[in-house]
Amino acid sequence: THKDIATPSRTKEIMEKYGFSVKKSLGQNFIVDPNILSNIVAASDIDKNTNVIEVGPGIGALTEHLARASKEVIAFEIDNRLLPVLADTLSPYDNVSIVHSDVLKVNLQQALPEMIDLDEPLVVVANLPYYITTPIIMHFLETPVRIDGLTIMMQKEVAERITAAPGSKAYGSLSIAIQYHMKAEIAFIVPKTVFIPQPNVDSAIIKLTRRATPSVTVKNEKSFFSLVRSAFVQRRKTLWNNLLIRYGKEDSTREKLIKALEVAGIDPKRRGETLSLEEFARLSDAIDEIVL
Ligand code: SAM
Repeated sequence: THKDIATPSRTKEIMEKYGFSVKKSLGQNFIVDPNILSNIVAASDIDKNTNVIEVGPGIGALTEHLARASKEVIAFEIDNRLLPVLADTLSPYDNVSIVHSDVLKVNLQQALPEMIDLDEPLVVVANLPYYITTPIIMHFLETPVRIDGLTIMMQKEVAERITAAPGSKAYGSLSIAIQYHMKAEIAFIVPKTVFIPQPNVDSAIIKLTRRATPSVTVKNEKSFFSLVRSAFVQRRKTLWNNLLIRYGKEDSTREKLIKALEVAGIDPKRRGETLSLEEFARLSDAIDEIVL
């Protein structure tokens, strides 16, 4: 076994050796607590048959824990200054591939088959750069590649929005976009003190598990997500006002919208944030049939 990268002294030693200074603009906050890393790996349910995608290996702190626990690790790192560092720190592991690129620009369906067998279990485990958490999650949900689960560290506030239930302040189109495909839960909260440098915000580990089928059935996914987004465009307004902004204010449209709301059994005076996924699904189907 090898000395963990994720201790304050070893991390400082590695950064000094390479004259590396973190770039805030890339969300570089490195974990320096091996217990947190063990807990992340435990939460991710991986084994020696599981392939792992990591985003942003940094100096390799989480990567080495993943390498020990999984079959293959594919890690996408945008910062070329980290490549020599990673070649050094991860040299004991023969099941890690570092890919130098912006993960958002990677066509996963094209890139992954060269490195792993997509029929095998595949999960994402990452301490994400906080400035692009949501785009990265959506990138993995929207790829045709079947990702079985994601265990990801993010800003606590974003974690709360993703896992929020209807009626709560944090509930919005992000909660629905993710809960439609995935079961979402906060695994644990992470204090600022386990990072170098310390971020300004608290963090949380979120566990997303793919559902066998979406959590609700809709006739048209596109119009469902479009309805959901429009319901939250102006959070303080009623559903009715937001629907008029989205579908039009003409008399004929108003009549059709009233009919659709009636069919779906939803009071137009409610706010979008009170509607469950089931209610959005019912309303979407009704609007699809009556309004669009
Ligand atoms: N995994 C390390 C750890 O836990 O200590 C580092 C995590 S740090 C929060 C985020 C990492 O993501 C940094 O190494 C940063 O350079 C990298 N990164 C930022 N934007 C990226 C992008 N678009 N694609 C790939 N990596 C990115």
